Parts: sequence; C-alpha cells; structure tokens
Amino acid sequence: MTDFRVLELEDELKIESCPKCGNNEFYVIRDYGYIVNTESDLVEEAKLEDIREVECTKCGWKKKVKPAIRVFRVSAQELGAETVKCGGCNWRVSQLFVLAKSKEEAIELIKRGEAGLCGDCFGELLADLAEKGYGF
Ligand SMILES: [Zn+2]
Ligand SMILES: [Zn+2]
Repeated sequence: MTDFRVLELEDELKIESCPKCGNNEFYVIRDYGYIVNTESDLVEEAKLEDIREVECTKCGWKKKVKPAIRVFRVSAQELGAETVKCGGCNWRVSQLFVLAKSKEEAIELIKRGEAGLCGDCFGELLADLAEKGYGF
C-alpha cells in the first residue's frame, strides 16, 4: 500500500525523485520535519496543506511548497445563522465567499471576522487580485 503522502508528493507536487541526484527520500518540513520515501510505505500523517518545504535527504535540493489557496463558499446555515454580514459592504447575505486552504479554515476565518465577502465584493476582490497578477 502506498501512503497518501507519497501520492501527494507525486501527483500534487510532481516530485517522484530528486531532480538533482535521483534520490527518492525527502525531508518534508511543516511545523516539524520527517522523512518521506516515495518508493516505500509511510507511517506518519500529514496534509498537503501543512507541508512547507520538501528537501532531498542526499543532496539538499529543496522545493518550497505554496499552500494551495482555493475559493470556498460558506452558507449562513453552516455558521449557525440565518444571514451573515459581508466584510466588504456590510450587507446581510445568505452565503459568503472566502479564499482559504480548506473549508475548515474558511469557516474559522469568518468566525474570527478575518474573511468572508458577498458575491459582489468577492468578485471585485478577484478582479483586483487578477490585476495584480495573482492567478487561481
Ligand atoms: Zn538530491
Ligand atoms: Zn459585500
């Protein structure tokens, strides 16, 4: 059985072996580091969104991992309310849009009042980001 972290390294990060030395073993750095071998089974658990950096154990080749930011829609119901307030225009709406790494994070950000925009405001945000060269 192949551990899902190996699949993530190979599929998501396109890392099968070190491009410099061909080694299959990598340090995966998140809050703490551990070793991932893309040719053997693994034991520890990690989510791709936690991974910050991958480093070859032999030659030290490194690849920084950008956390994948996605758009999430969170309904007022999911927040236990009938309506929620847009952080941009202050209108009360039935759903908010958030840029986050996961649905859980999206909900957390809204609860902390750090994110959450109505469709109109979110559209403007995306257009602004696109003009600044960000892509999704
Ligand atoms: Zn290497
Ligand atoms: Zn708004």
